[in-house]
Amino acid sequence: MAQWLMTLPTKPIRSLRPTLETAFHIDYDWWSKGDRDLRVYLRSHLCAEHREQLAEANLDGDLVDSIDPATAEVKRVDALVLLMQAHCAQQPSFISEHSSIVDAAFRIFLTNDNQPLTSRELAERIDRDADTILRTIGGKQVYQGIRPTAG
Ligand SMILES: [Zn+2]
Repeated sequence: MAQWLMTLPTKPIRSLRPTLETAFHIDYDWWSKGDRDLRVYLRSHLCAEHREQLAEANLDGDLVDSIDPATAEVKRVDALVLLMQAHCAQQPSFISEHSSIVDAAFRIFLTNDNQPLTSRELAERIDRDADTILRTIGGKQVYQGIRPTAG
């Protein structure tokens, strides 16, 4: 056997496949690439009442001040997202069994300020099976910008 073969590093190659412990979030860079319209998709998460009320409104990209209740820090927040957090996300139908896993996960990240969550944590919040969630958002295809936080 050639000498070099025996000196190859034996360290296992780290798998890049996401696992149940991999944290996901919304990658807004993904949205800024290509032809993707985040504003249209964001609006689709409004409750029926607000979707109708704001159909003609030009809220796109408006930023408003929001005070973080925990840190009292003032942040600039997207007006649509703030409205969702304050109202639409409080509606019982916001995360329903009829939402797709991708939509439901996206809504969770919208309303938790995009704090990374694993498939297990998402499973508790959207009441779906963690493995199914992982298969959906952990594959090669990126849905609505939901990606692992590292890489
Ligand atoms: Zn609403």
